[in-house]
Amino acid sequence: APYMKKHNFFAGPAILPAPVLEQAAAAVSDFEGMGLSILEISHRSPQFVAVLNEAEALVRELLGVSDDFAVLFLTGGASSQFFVSAMNLLNEDQTAGYIDTGAWSAKAIKEAKNFGGVNVLASSKDGNYNYIPENIEIPSGLQYVHLTANNTIFGTQFAEFPETDAPLVADMSSEIFSRRLPMEKFGLIYAGAQKNMGPAGVTLAIVRKDLLGKVKRTLPTMLDYRTHIAKQSSFNTPPVFPIYVSMLTMRWVKAQGGVEAMEKHNADKAQLLYDEIDRNPKFRGTVANKASRSLMNVTFEPVDEADAQPFLDACEAAGCVGVKGHRSVGGFRASIYNSMPKSSVQALVDVMKSF
Ligand code: PLP
Repeated sequence: APYMKKHNFFAGPAILPAPVLEQAAAAVSDFEGMGLSILEISHRSPQFVAVLNEAEALVRELLGVSDDFAVLFLTGGASSQFFVSAMNLLNEDQTAGYIDTGAWSAKAIKEAKNFGGVNVLASSKDGNYNYIPENIEIPSGLQYVHLTANNTIFGTQFAEFPETDAPLVADMSSEIFSRRLPMEKFGLIYAGAQKNMGPAGVTLAIVRKDLLGKVKRTLPTMLDYRTHIAKQSSFNTPPVFPIYVSMLTMRWVKAQGGVEAMEKHNADKAQLLYDEIDRNPKFRGTVANKASRSLMNVTFEPVDEADAQPFLDACEAAGCVGVKGHRSVGGFRASIYNSMPKSSVQALVDVMKSF
């Protein structure tokens, strides 16, 4: 197979299953026998409308999303959702709660402040974001509570979602489809595609419809969720190829046994790696407590700083690429998204064992 010659531990974009890459490549040559590339077809063609419909149906099926929610395929990345979410959901005279667990949360907080009151309910900044705050006291009366479900850079993840009477707004860019979700708690879930879902260029938004249309400000047409609901994500030209590849990835997730199977597979892979980090005297985890550890981005460091480069060299030699940590944490980061096979995690563990 021409793909996945290396064990890809990069944090993104995009980590996709080998069969999905093969089908995507075939569609670039000739999409469903149309004699046209997927890159050339009209977004109004029945063939692409079928892709959009299937993508939406798969999101609903995989995550158990009811008709109370709209499923949208947008552009602008998760970074645009930082302000679009606040713009659509928060009035100037209202307050939303934000939990600050990393650089992406901090960016969401900065943007939301332009639209209304922001109450930072808890922050782990004091520990360079190496834990998820626990027992957060959440006052009532908030419009929503925003959190970053998985902190890609720092390797932390909410194991449980906080209890609140306000709907949760969650950035799930680096964990979408990796575990089952209590949908009844959420008002909005958004995710840039480019880790667990597809190529960069499409952003998934799952929004509870009854929360919309309540803000007093005038929303630019393109930034109003209701525009995209009314036009089924085709108000303007949608990112056809990223949506197609995302649909293929969701089909793959379904074929693996759905999100429940992904959850088991991810827990199993993460345990394999964390067990080695905890066992091997040359390494230690960077996250302060086990309950905060991410199953998607595993951050660790050498006990002896002099081992850093030699270990990365050993990883490269074994075909394990992308293990270098983010500059704001240092050390190592192994991103082990849905499509990462256990055999690749084992390959990294083998490098650690023989190092
Ligand atoms: N949120 C999280 C948790 C991320 O990991 C990232 C990107 O890595 C972003 C937001 C930014 O997403 P985008 O590049 O789609 O704007």
